[in-house]
Amino acid sequence: MAKKKRNINKKKKQKQLLKSFDSTGNSTVTYICLQCGIAERIPKEIIETIEFLDEDFSPLTAPQFSCEKCGGEMYPQYYRNFCGIEFQLSDVQDK
Ligand SMILES: [Zn+2]
Repeated sequence: MAKKKRNINKKKKQKQLLKSFDSTGNSTVTYICLQCGIAERIPKEIIETIEFLDEDFSPLTAPQFSCEKCGGEMYPQYYRNFCGIEFQLSDVQDK
């Protein structure tokens, strides 16, 4: 019983570690299409470029992309911008 519990804790720790990699990572951000659910990995560099180039961009909203398959709106699964504001898919899925 106790052994089982320890395993769960270990798993949780790995998940947290993975999450911190995402927030500091320099690789990619996973975007999910809100319409068809397809996932796409978008290099963080591109997202940051959009943030700086888009005149209408507000740091309070996540940079968004259109789905290549259905043209639907895509939202980051998890993304933290340069202001430290976090965006998660659950933000829009709860609505
Ligand atoms: Zn789509």
